[in-house]
Amino acid sequence: TPKQPSNLSLLLQSLLQEARQLPEQGKVADYIPALAAVAPEQTAIAVATLDGELHTAGDASQCFSIQSVSKIYGLVLAMNRLGDDVWQRVHMEPSGQPFNSIVQLEWEHGIPRNPFINAGAIVVADMLVSHYSASKAALLNFIRKLAGTEQIWADNIVYQSEKEHGNRNAALAYLMKSFGNIEAEVPQVLDHYFYQCSVEMSCEQLARSLVFLANRGQDPWTEQMICSRRDAHRVNAILSTSGMYDQSGEFAFTVGLPAKSGVGGGIAAIVPNYGVIAAWSPRLNSFGNSCRAMFMVTRLAEQLGLSVY
Ligand code: GLU
Repeated sequence: TPKQPSNLSLLLQSLLQEARQLPEQGKVADYIPALAAVAPEQTAIAVATLDGELHTAGDASQCFSIQSVSKIYGLVLAMNRLGDDVWQRVHMEPSGQPFNSIVQLEWEHGIPRNPFINAGAIVVADMLVSHYSASKAALLNFIRKLAGTEQIWADNIVYQSEKEHGNRNAALAYLMKSFGNIEAEVPQVLDHYFYQCSVEMSCEQLARSLVFLANRGQDPWTEQMICSRRDAHRVNAILSTSGMYDQSGEFAFTVGLPAKSGVGGGIAAIVPNYGVIAAWSPRLNSFGNSCRAMFMVTRLAEQLGLSVY
């Protein structure tokens, strides 16, 4: 077990100060105007532990666009609903290609490399659309249940502009449909996918909502089983190899935690048997990972000895 510093909140506070003083780095996501307009200096970190504590620093109750971090919730919901059939339609290998790459999909007959690249998350969205009469509501309710609050919504402006700028995701979906790996109609699948990307959460909510993955599938607050122990293991395994875009290998090398990032600047890192670190700041490095969030998660993992390896 990692050592628990006498005051984790103080440590988070000092990491946050350091992160804020880093030379200005990176660039806010600008593929849609709604994300480009986010105040770039905002910075937050939250740690939710299995014993029910929540430690925070900075803008930890400020909501932001979770974007690709949402791929975790979609995947767990689909695994719960479809069981092992999920793995007939999406694999569990790192892609070694950009998150929205299309070439590999053609070579591999419409089966995406993993559920955290866009193509994989779109197949998962198709599973949800095909198995729930109201998949968007099912996803939002699942997130609310995990976060222990009803106060979570999708941002309508982000949702609409994802749709307007969604040509590449549409191309991925239609290519997979041509291979028979999308069951529902493509516009409906994309609608679910863009909705999911546009959900807004704070670092506090993000950390709290994912603790079940650090606790073998069980939510320590409610003692409810959210997924099986085996599935929690599987999600963490894929996060470890594919959760941080094309920086996943380096992240495993330097930090050693299952984690997922999104272009909104959020990162959620799972610390098995301990808790979840959520960090956020909008400026992204060249891989699409938040500069300041990477800095804080990296330092915290080092200082507490959190690596799983
Ligand atoms: N909405 C973005 C897309 O699908 C999500 C990107 C991300 O966070 O990786 O292109």
